[in-house]
Amino acid sequence: MNNSGVNIAVLRDYFLSRQDQIVVLINALVEIESPSGDEAGSRDVVSLLANQAETIAGVKVEVVPVNNYGQHLRLSAFSEAADPAPVLLLGHTDTVHARGSIVERPWRIEGNKAYGPGVFDMKANCVLALEVIRALTQFGIQPKRSVVLLLTCDEETGSASGRALVEAIARQASSVLVLEPSGSGGRAKTGRKGTGIYSLEAIGRAAHAGLEPEKGASAVLELARQTERLHAFNGKAGGVSVNVGVFRGGTLSNVVAAEARAEIDVRFTTAAESELIENEIFKLRSFDVRVQLKLTGGINRPPLERTEKVVKLYQQAKAIAGQLDFELGETQVGGASDGNFAAAVGAAVLDGLGIAGDGAHAAHEHIILDDIPRRGALIAALIASL
Ligand SMILES: [Zn+2]
Repeated sequence: MNNSGVNIAVLRDYFLSRQDQIVVLINALVEIESPSGDEAGSRDVVSLLANQAETIAGVKVEVVPVNNYGQHLRLSAFSEAADPAPVLLLGHTDTVHARGSIVERPWRIEGNKAYGPGVFDMKANCVLALEVIRALTQFGIQPKRSVVLLLTCDEETGSASGRALVEAIARQASSVLVLEPSGSGGRAKTGRKGTGIYSLEAIGRAAHAGLEPEKGASAVLELARQTERLHAFNGKAGGVSVNVGVFRGGTLSNVVAAEARAEIDVRFTTAAESELIENEIFKLRSFDVRVQLKLTGGINRPPLERTEKVVKLYQQAKAIAGQLDFELGETQVGGASDGNFAAAVGAAVLDGLGIAGDGAHAAHEHIILDDIPRRGALIAALIASL
């Protein structure tokens, strides 16, 4: 028994006894493809999860449609809890894998690993979240707080519509547990960089490259210099990184380029760093005064900082994992999630609580099956202790 009166070993054994059914559900969810913006796929995934949720007593199911895009799913449980400030379980149902991926890389189990597009990020965890609520209900464990499970359908493309929902619930929530993929070795994520996305356009002057090159002002040369300047920020200020990932310009080799465009990805660890780098970016002036620069874009996700609140939540999870004889490590990563939005409105956030595995967004994406029982028990006991 831990301090919230939950027998964790019993919970783990329960998840172990249900593991086959859980894996069947994960398999079914992976085989319904749901790349971001695929309305039919999103609807089918949500309907499978909603049907499952309806088999759990006391769970309220709400579907939030997003026009021509998909559906968010919001489940509420334990609404009779003493403290109405909920524990928010956060995740997403969309994947980065295009339709047809499941034909190229079908679901398969090899030893202790289950492979399939989107299994690790994060369909297995959508199922696990439901199973955690089922387990709490089954054992008559009444958490002190109500539980909201929010699964958005647009996380992988920046959460244009999911963001407001995440923020609204996170503002009310006492804690936010993000069931995104864990770090290597199943580690929780106690920090995530913030992201900014910018587009830099250069407008120069075309001229014949052989006859009168001096009359031209090269947009390609200008942006090449700007790219050097931007990349020079790397390694200078803490966790700031800058990448010009796309570079396009010019028309023909014998024409001085009149136009060029660069797409820029910026990452930062703290709010202070984000201000610093944004100021620097907006200070850009052209090297060649005849070339005009146009910068658009801005911060997409604020950073999830490793604050005291985050560390406290992590320590709590780590202690529970200890009772299950596993060491829950922590890591800080460059990639952002909806956990970043939750943290930015002041919520206590612990991210990367999903089932161990590897290969998010890649062809070898998989989960570790052995991790399911202890992971389920950990999350259930954590909810009960909050
Ligand atoms: Zn994800």
